[in-house]
Amino acid sequence: MRNVIIIGSGPAGYTAAIYAARANLNPLLVEGLEVGGQLSITTLVENFPGFPEGVQGPALMEDMKKQAGKFGTDFLSALVTKVDFSQTPFRVFTDDEEIQTKTLIIASGASARLLGIESEKRLIGYGVSTCATCDGYFFKGKEIIVVGGGDSAIEEATFLTKYANKVTVIHRRDQLRASKIMQERAFKNPKIDFVWNTTVEDVYDVEAKNVKGVKLKNLKNGEVTDFKCDGVFVAIGHVPNTQIFKGLIEMDDNGYILTRDGSRTSAPGVFAAGDVQDHVYKQAISAAGSGCMAAMDAEKYLESVGH
Ligand code: NAP
Repeated sequence: MRNVIIIGSGPAGYTAAIYAARANLNPLLVEGLEVGGQLSITTLVENFPGFPEGVQGPALMEDMKKQAGKFGTDFLSALVTKVDFSQTPFRVFTDDEEIQTKTLIIASGASARLLGIESEKRLIGYGVSTCATCDGYFFKGKEIIVVGGGDSAIEEATFLTKYANKVTVIHRRDQLRASKIMQERAFKNPKIDFVWNTTVEDVYDVEAKNVKGVKLKNLKNGEVTDFKCDGVFVAIGHVPNTQIFKGLIEMDDNGYILTRDGSRTSAPGVFAAGDVQDHVYKQAISAAGSGCMAAMDAEKYLESVGH
């Protein structure tokens, strides 16, 4: 029987673990499939306070894990497949075991959103990717496109110019959502081109099991054209990892967990932190802050039920 189980190993999960461990709650953190979360597949993080020169995302996450471990967090390398909040203690299931806990902190984050085209799905790993740091290396000297207009798309496009000959950003509007400083860098980069008001309708060539180009549609005039490229990086945001909590706690229409009074969810004793409950800020530092809140809320809850 645990005092606290934390689901997720991003900034929210690790920060919750640091605080819960320092409250002598001996938390168990279930790491999930992507240990370290989204920062583990990024490169230089320049806006996390305390690192004036920036810090590599994977290194930052390793250090957070070390810090959580130092104060007595136990780690479980597994994926939570089911939870049961209908009785206390709560039950948390992985493929191999069932663990009981008095409180739960959900910090399972969000995953890359896809365009939803059949050919995109079939070509993932064959030229279609959602992770420039993971797959950029395979596109040395090639021509690629990045879909999206947010910070992720611009960061990926800029990063990919290290390898690719040319990177074309395909965006559905005529303005980027990305922060001004990142936009300016991208506009100045001679290897980056932009195609505005355009969506990707299809990815070629499923038969050849290789990306050879895309079908583009101009949303202003409806014109459909083919565009040759060797790779497609999809960077159009994220969807919260909340499937296993559906029907058990309150969520908004997009599946983000609703929190109130700090990190409390609609189920007493269940708390949520990080991107799983935040579709507005979605920053490593705000996720870390909410992880701290969740651990403190869980500690208060345990005191209130006479833990
Ligand atoms: P985002 O800010 O939600 O941007 C998603 C982009 O994809 C938008 O430009 C959106 O277009 C476009 N899009 C969404 N659905 C689409 C679809 N079905 N087809 C075509 N385009 C679509 O997501 P993000 O870029 O992943 O960033 C998420 C958060 O992380 C943000 O808060 C961001 O600031 C942060 N972040 C920060 C950094 C950094 O500071 N180093 C790096 C990466 C991410 P519209 O613009 O038309 O809506």
